[in-house]
Amino acid sequence: MRIKNIKAVYAAGPGPMVKAVDDVSLNIRKGEVLGIAGESGCGKSTLAAVIALTARPPLYVKGGSMELDGDVIQFTEQVTPSADWHGKLVALLPQRALNSLNPTARVRDFVVDVMRAHDPTIQPQEAIEAARVRLKHLSLPPRVLDSYPHQLSGGMRQRTVAVISTLLDPKVLIADEPTSALDVSSQKQLIELLKLLLEYEFITRVAFITHDLPMLSNIADRIAVMYAGKLVEVGDTEQIVSAPRHPYTHALITSTLDPEPEIRHHRLEGIQGAPPDLRYPPPGCSFHPRCPLAMDICSREAPPKIGTEDHFAACWWVAQQTKGETEKGAVR
Ligand code: SF4
Repeated sequence: MRIKNIKAVYAAGPGPMVKAVDDVSLNIRKGEVLGIAGESGCGKSTLAAVIALTARPPLYVKGGSMELDGDVIQFTEQVTPSADWHGKLVALLPQRALNSLNPTARVRDFVVDVMRAHDPTIQPQEAIEAARVRLKHLSLPPRVLDSYPHQLSGGMRQRTVAVISTLLDPKVLIADEPTSALDVSSQKQLIELLKLLLEYEFITRVAFITHDLPMLSNIADRIAVMYAGKLVEVGDTEQIVSAPRHPYTHALITSTLDPEPEIRHHRLEGIQGAPPDLRYPPPGCSFHPRCPLAMDICSREAPPKIGTEDHFAACWWVAQQTKGETEKGAVR
């Protein structure tokens, strides 16, 4: 899956628009879980809405493209993606399952709605049977189909929505902070379920959006870090977590508490200052007002991406540290 040069803005009344996603390009390989991390307001959920094709006003996609196994969407302001993309190519696992389920309907009614929205010829009983088989396959109790949402625990609701979202075997699942409302054991169960969905090839790629880097270290193959609507670092999970190159990634890691006390190995620190107002993004590197390593050039010129398309850090300090690599590997 190739996401290229995505730009998206919020129209927030009179005045400049909020540049929530600014020229983001990413690849998600087959079989891969790509983590997308950053503070609140960095643009990760907006990016999720764009690639899950759920962007609605006041969010407007201003440009870019998305290619998935030969199918291409060119985003324009009038883009209306084909219904085929929803559910079959791209599916969204949202943050709060309860908000996705109708409280007055049983889970099986929801399953029928989802399946018939894509294939009106499918009979209700066939749809329910398909869901029953899928639940069994994933070692989840098929009786959830007969339950109302309030009869399920928070963790079971989220796992049920994960199963329903993927009933049509989408090629990519966009999981937008799916664990944020769950306790630790429900988080682990959901992660195990996502791994099973990949293992059985019911889905072939996952974009997992979260602010929780320790959680990503348990599930992601690679991590993309966003700040102020841009990607600032992309790398293998091990490299990002143990040897981050970008000062913002480093700050994110040192400000996150690892849930496993026995493997905590750093002192918890906060990140000075606050993310910028994206109606008026600062010139140069957006992180420069908060960066302990900022140099003069950082407030004047946007930093180059140092590395390759799939592994880079966009930073003048990194450029200085890896002189020579700039000419060789810049993908700017
Ligand atoms: S470009 Fe400069 S301000 Fe931005 S992260 Fe790198 S060193 Fe810090």
